[in-house]
Amino acid sequence: MYDEIINEPQWHEECGIFGIWSKTASVTDVCYLGLFALQHRGQESAGIAVTDGMHVDIAKGMGLMTEAFRPRLPGITGHCAVGHVRYSTVGGSVLANVQPFLASFSGGFISLAHNGSLTNAQETRRRLENAGCIFQSSSDSESILNLIAVSQAPTVEEKILSSLEQIEGAYSLVIMTGDRLTGVRDPHAFRPLCLGRLEDGYVLASETCALDAVNATFVRDVLPGEMVVVDRTGVHSYFLQKKARRSSCVFEYIYFARPDSVIDGVSVWQSRYLMGRRLAREYPAAADVVVPVPDTGIAAAIGFSAESGLPFVEGLIKNRYVGRTFILPDQTKRKATVEMKLNPVQANLAGKRVVLIDDSIVRGTTSARLIALLRRAGATEVHMCVSSPPITHPCYYGIDTSIRRELIAAVSTEEEICRKIGTDGLHYLSLQGLLESVGDGMGERMCTSCFRGDYPTDVSECLAEAGI
Ligand code: SF4
Repeated sequence: MYDEIINEPQWHEECGIFGIWSKTASVTDVCYLGLFALQHRGQESAGIAVTDGMHVDIAKGMGLMTEAFRPRLPGITGHCAVGHVRYSTVGGSVLANVQPFLASFSGGFISLAHNGSLTNAQETRRRLENAGCIFQSSSDSESILNLIAVSQAPTVEEKILSSLEQIEGAYSLVIMTGDRLTGVRDPHAFRPLCLGRLEDGYVLASETCALDAVNATFVRDVLPGEMVVVDRTGVHSYFLQKKARRSSCVFEYIYFARPDSVIDGVSVWQSRYLMGRRLAREYPAAADVVVPVPDTGIAAAIGFSAESGLPFVEGLIKNRYVGRTFILPDQTKRKATVEMKLNPVQANLAGKRVVLIDDSIVRGTTSARLIALLRRAGATEVHMCVSSPPITHPCYYGIDTSIRRELIAAVSTEEEICRKIGTDGLHYLSLQGLLESVGDGMGERMCTSCFRGDYPTDVSECLAEAGI
């Protein structure tokens, strides 16, 4: 899925979170580096909050990290920081919604960054507003902050735990209070969160690629329903009372996470490679070359090539210097934009039967444009192979999906999709093939709701909001 190509709603990972507690390090710089490694998870805004235990400073801005922090980074030399990169799904793309959120409460101050989306957000917010809470943003994450602030529990840990018992849905959190860093993963473990060790402290991050970026040693993934607290005495673990069936997002492996990350013990790159091998077994296409849609289709295309014996070639070259700002307003210019961002390699395509590997198809418009590009470069046949099953249902756990009627696989048969995107053949990876490709039996403990519509939490509030 090459979602940057066109100015249309596609799938976006909406957040990356990072937290650091250190005895001596300059935590602002380390937090910046960690967040930078998570930039793929959100490009609309970024923020960092830092404390020295007495004071707190926060810097936030819109855009990529380099844009958001151009005016300034937090100025104090602290021992603890939390950071966030965001693509908005709940709440608009405005500065008021940029995280981390920071508030004062009876226990001092609290700063919080959230990855995920709550499925009882409206009910929670209504309850808090009725109790007199004032909101400064339209983000569901601010409700979590308010729940903690109004909690009557005696300790900060108990305030956080009792607040989280009241919310449902997807949340991985990093929370900074005066002298400690807290990380939480919801009982379903929808979104990733891992713990790493520094020489003189600890970090929490959405993905292990961020640990690598700051030279932290991977300690472990935060467990479903677990809260880890880092302070001067080390790492302490607590658990929510609420228990749930583990439902980690399988799309982290298909598309969202960086391929060099390892999530819950499973390599993202290896999973994608195995998805490609499985695709080749399920769909032994009569073709000459295997071409990935860069970048997320590359590992699966290498796997497809290894299994099928067909040569892997670069058929589409991505212009890495065209940023988000290169989005033009009208349709004619948008088409030109596609060609500015991806250009076919005629030498690898002319006269060839091509297997095109992409990670998913959402609306189908991008696939149609890519296939047309390949044909114009001389490909005689284009077989579209997708390393995930058809997406037939929206996600309510923090991924920005089109509404259901805009999902091409929800409203069209495979033959209709073939016609609409102009392919000579179409094959989606089977659900079983997908789950078996995500190693170590993890596949069985994944959320697959966007393929099946069997949501692991009550989503009636989300359905009502969508008018269903
Ligand atoms: S519905 Fe799909 S995208 Fe959303 S959490 Fe589940 S698997 Fe991930």
